[in-house]
Amino acid sequence: MFDYDSDAIAAILGTSLDAVFTIDAQGLIVDTNAAASRMFGWPREAFLGANISLIVPSPLKEQHDGFLRAFRPDRGVKHVLGSGQRLDGQRQDGSRFPVEVGISAFERDGRRYFTGFVRDMSERQSAEDRMRYLALHDAESGLLNYRGFAERFAAAAGSGRRMAVFRIEEFRRFSVAYGERWSIATVQEIAARLVTTLAPHEMAGRVRDDSFALCLGSDAGARVETLAALLRQPYALDTTVVQLTATFGLSSPGDDFASLLRTAQWACDRAGATGRGGINAYTDGLRQAVVRELAIESRLREAVRNNRLMLVLQPKCRLADRRIVGAEALVRWDEPQLGAIPPAEFIPLAERLGLVGEITDWMLQRSLAEIAACPDPTISVAVNFSALDFYHPDFVARLSDALAAAALSPHRLVIELTESAAIHDVSLVNTRLQALRALGVGVSLDDFGTGYTALSYLRQFAVDALKIDIAFVRDLPDSRSAISIARAIVALARGLGLETIAEGVETEAQANALSGLGVDVAQGFLFGRPMPPSEFNRLVGPATASPGAR
Ligand code: C2E
Ligand code: MG
Ligand code: MG
Repeated sequence: MFDYDSDAIAAILGTSLDAVFTIDAQGLIVDTNAAASRMFGWPREAFLGANISLIVPSPLKEQHDGFLRAFRPDRGVKHVLGSGQRLDGQRQDGSRFPVEVGISAFERDGRRYFTGFVRDMSERQSAEDRMRYLALHDAESGLLNYRGFAERFAAAAGSGRRMAVFRIEEFRRFSVAYGERWSIATVQEIAARLVTTLAPHEMAGRVRDDSFALCLGSDAGARVETLAALLRQPYALDTTVVQLTATFGLSSPGDDFASLLRTAQWACDRAGATGRGGINAYTDGLRQAVVRELAIESRLREAVRNNRLMLVLQPKCRLADRRIVGAEALVRWDEPQLGAIPPAEFIPLAERLGLVGEITDWMLQRSLAEIAACPDPTISVAVNFSALDFYHPDFVARLSDALAAAALSPHRLVIELTESAAIHDVSLVNTRLQALRALGVGVSLDDFGTGYTALSYLRQFAVDALKIDIAFVRDLPDSRSAISIARAIVALARGLGLETIAEGVETEAQANALSGLGVDVAQGFLFGRPMPPSEFNRLVGPATASPGAR
């Protein structure tokens, strides 16, 4: 190893950027370099003979021989060599700053000395502070970001806290229209509104570009109302003034950050589905509904693929003579574990999963086969089609294929389309209805009276019958408003040359009222529940040829 002489060492230490202190076993300074004076502000003369605690701030100073405590000789020289201990140093003017210290020990003439290299960490510290700040905060709003929010949540004590998440509707659309400056200014304004109203135990964060999260206490419900009102106030930047809508989701009380945020976010998503600007609280009932939904979804695909669905037929009777003129085909699903699941529950899921087309095709094919086997050849079968089926490009081809395969006249088939599905895309529906008419297939508008069809559309639609919704039938014969609506539907149908069918007829009183109003056909438990096709065919018996029937 190169043998430095003491002059060389003095020169080297003199140019070091680190402050160098050598102290004796009592902690008295025996030597310093130029950087020590620069860093701490004391002249060399002041250092020499002074205790090292001179550069140590309270409370370490009071703990006798501050720096030395960490570097006791009995812990071994190796232990202290090169160790980077983070401490605070104190300048002559009393100000504190972060330092990193490395200490080595040596002996000379039977005495022990320590040399400390002290590095000023103020700049590095502030860079680190900045980085830490940026890692935990959203740069645009200055609010906590997801990580910061999670850390602060974990650090703050409290039980039964609730989380609220709100999404600014159309934030992205506005951002596209008004640009980056607008979106940053708006986010800052939102943050400012939040911060000024937060109570000490509450906190706010920005968890996505258009979503913010709030940690609230037991009064969360009321607080969310207040905050929603505050956020509704207009936002002005230059000449642009906009009003924004926040949709809120609220968790139930809990302590687990991730699940609180997740459930609040989920509630927020669902609030959006039921209307913008709402407040939706997550409840255990809601969770159970979703668990059931998922259970159904996972089994539905298999049930459809493996033909586990069943078809039942419900008779439709002409009110004038109570003769069966048709049947409605309804799907049934008896799930081994979950029991009978009503179609109103699983058909919307099938639509979401893209399975409804398969169900319709199967129902169509089964319905045609069953009605072909019906002893009365005048009886028609009505199959329910979902809006998605109707919009499918192969819709007409699929229908005529099915009819051809069953070798059945198109007049034996009726399609039921809900009124709300029909008004979804009026011009496409119109095209489809024309094609059905050309094919010779009948069409009924199902659940009529609930879908707000504009009368002008109805005039254009090539349909054959209106099915009066069960809601109006249920209240007959006593409800005057139900009577008025039923009467209006009958008048409308007559004017347009359409047949009327009442669904959900359970009592003689209802049947008589409907008959009196001039309704043509009725369907309901009074005439027969939905039943297996074999039973339906027995009920019908052989045809008693009626000239008017199709
Ligand atoms: P919808 O087409 O309006 O069917 C009438 C519903 O009323 C049926 O319920 C039927 O069982 C029920 N109902 C019949 N008579 C009475 C009565 O006297 N009283 C009462 N309270 N209810 C009666 P279901 O079978 O549960 O079907 C519900 C809905 O699910 C149907 O309403 C239809 O929109 C849909 N659906 C059923 N089967 C299918 C299908 O194969 N495909 C599609 N896309 N939808 C279907
Ligand atoms: Mg129907
Ligand atoms: Mg209906």
